[in-house]
Amino acid sequence: MARIVMKFGGTSVADLDRIRNVARHVKREVDAGNEVAVVVSAMSGKTNELVGWAQQMPKVSGGNLPFYDAREYDAIVASGEQVSAGLLAIALQSMGVDARSWQGWQIPIKTDNAHGAARIVDIDATTLIERIARGQVAVVTGFQGIGPDNRIATLGRGGSDTSAVAVAAAVKADRCDIYTDVDGVYTTDPRIEPKARRLSKISFEEMLEMASLGAKVLQVRSVELAMVHKVRTFVRSSFDDPDAPGMGDPDNPPGTLICDEDEIVEQQVVTGIAYAKDEAQISLRRVADRPGVAAGIFGPLAEAGINVDMIVQNISEDGSRTDMTFTVPSGDVVKALAVLEENREELGFDVIQHETGMVKVSVIGIGMRSHAGVAATAFNALSERGINIRAITTSEIKISILIDGAYAELAVRALHSVYGLDKQ
Ligand code: ASP
Ligand code: MG
Repeated sequence: MARIVMKFGGTSVADLDRIRNVARHVKREVDAGNEVAVVVSAMSGKTNELVGWAQQMPKVSGGNLPFYDAREYDAIVASGEQVSAGLLAIALQSMGVDARSWQGWQIPIKTDNAHGAARIVDIDATTLIERIARGQVAVVTGFQGIGPDNRIATLGRGGSDTSAVAVAAAVKADRCDIYTDVDGVYTTDPRIEPKARRLSKISFEEMLEMASLGAKVLQVRSVELAMVHKVRTFVRSSFDDPDAPGMGDPDNPPGTLICDEDEIVEQQVVTGIAYAKDEAQISLRRVADRPGVAAGIFGPLAEAGINVDMIVQNISEDGSRTDMTFTVPSGDVVKALAVLEENREELGFDVIQHETGMVKVSVIGIGMRSHAGVAATAFNALSERGINIRAITTSEIKISILIDGAYAELAVRALHSVYGLDKQ
């Protein structure tokens, strides 16, 4: 017997048939004697519809809230999960499974006051644990909790992954199963490289890099949370037949386990290749080389809410002037250039150059910490294909390379093969 949290995303509860199918997954785990809490998203498309409605309403004058009255925005967009949770509870009851739905505030899942992008601060899981321990399935609305102002607060788009991991940590679950429309985490995007393989395990750190770098399987914050609380998290498919052999395997259900690196016995040097599209490169030429220049450039960009990613600064030849290159999402280029122009005098640069349509490909693996030559291998693989490298950044477990967008697929495939990820 185990205590498990099962999370189902929007596509998994998209219609009544799929909700019935989800109920079969849940029933399987209940029948196996497990204590089960379920976290659900809204039916797919629902949250978009609700957000759209909120946006069509007139703005509150004078407010500096991200949308309108963010508390009302939350009241509106949180409703999607209320519907899917209720429907799933009924589907379970009709199969003879004792179940009830819980909204975030009823548990309560306490959040901070940042409506629209709230963080969970505490979950009082006492009642939840009592109920699931006596065999009742708790179907919890994802994506939401209650703020210190006693009003519903939502966690930001894709937030129900985070709800699930947080509930799993709070009830001290043995594992958190994230059921989604893919059957696990792959060595790279299978749409680009058909030889991509499903990983049986990946460490929290690696998954965090993969998620931040564009692999859209899980919300980044949910991975951070899983890492902090060491919640063993399985990514698996809700479209698999709930009663197929092995589906109820308590130790190794089909999918990818995200876990502590100690649990990964056979460590590969490189675990995966990720890529992020639509990056833009901005270069400031001949910037003064003195203390405070970087702060002068990146401070105003941060204040403007622009997320700067790779930063490359050269050491100046003569100690007076240097070049500063960095990347931002393509959609933010115009804003970034305007901010820089505004501060031109103070920064004292010569020219700004920019180019859009860049792609950042990244090689990820905890094995890199103890292996030399991983970066050189990547650079060779790209040079053999005539791909020019524009910028490079590295961390302990990652090498990121900025290249022209036109070469994205070629680069991903080259890197995937050069580290042997094509092979079993
Ligand atoms: N329904 C919410 C959204 O679409 C939360 C989620 O699906 O994780 O963003
Ligand atoms: Mg989702």
